[in-house]
Amino acid sequence: MEDLIHKTARLIADSRHVVALTGAGISVESGIPPFRGPGGLWEKFDPMEVGHIQSFMRDPEKVWRLLISEMRDVLMAAKPNPAHLGLARLEEMGILKTVITQNVDGLHQTAGSRDVVEFHGNFAWLRCLDCGGRVRTVEVDLSQMPPRCDCGGIFRPECVFFGEMIPPLDLDRAQIAASSCDVMLVVGCSAVVQPAAYMPVIARQSGAVVIEINPEPTPLTGRTSAFLIQGKAGPTVEKIVAGVTRIIADKRR
Ligand code: NAD
Ligand code: ZN
Repeated sequence: MEDLIHKTARLIADSRHVVALTGAGISVESGIPPFRGPGGLWEKFDPMEVGHIQSFMRDPEKVWRLLISEMRDVLMAAKPNPAHLGLARLEEMGILKTVITQNVDGLHQTAGSRDVVEFHGNFAWLRCLDCGGRVRTVEVDLSQMPPRCDCGGIFRPECVFFGEMIPPLDLDRAQIAASSCDVMLVVGCSAVVQPAAYMPVIARQSGAVVIEINPEPTPLTGRTSAFLIQGKAGPTVEKIVAGVTRIIADKRR
């Protein structure tokens, strides 16, 4: 594993354009459970069903109670971990250009990343289904369920539910980033949710080296990715960034 970490640091230090694709796994060490896997929401109910736009439209109160209010509490308490901070540091160094994320937690921006494509939107804001008025998720009154706007309309999070389209502009930006990079880091992403799972394929077809960081293999492993660093996001990214910093300092000497 240390070999692969060193190899990755070298590839990044020699790269002109790194892009990262991140999934729920990068935020696990920030205390946000993923949908799949041990401790995931999946063990309690099927998020694909409860998090589907049709479920929300049919019974917004149920979806607010089961999914949204719990997510709000978890997200409010979460802070960026060394993986978010490491990717932000690589952007600051001028090496990493874009983070494409499936997450709705906003932790990349909190960590300092500037160019972030949020495939599934962000949980920070709610929008009224009737008048389109917006309110911060942390400020909404949850004493009545579902929470309502002054106009009487029901609030929904500004994220993309299952069954909804990714905003075309975000998809365009992500595809351009994926086809322009020479190294793509895929961190904590199970690569089973489309269209995110397709971004590493675009990168590979455009000549990039795709590297995965994940405790578990994924459908990309052994096919699209050059190799998998089998470990947790935080300590792995932290070691990679330390390696890159060392290599670049040595080059300057
Ligand atoms: P997923 O839940 O399907 O998969 C998570 C992946 O992370 C798995 O491959 C798992 O092996 C890996 N993982 C677990 N712990 C890890 C760690 N410490 N370090 C690195 N990797 C780790 O997540 P997904 O593929 O991103 O798709 C589920 C969808 O649900 C997402 O698209 C997202 O919109 C939503 N979601 C978002 C959040 C969030 O914003 N933090 C959390 C849960 C779900
Ligand atoms: Zn309204």
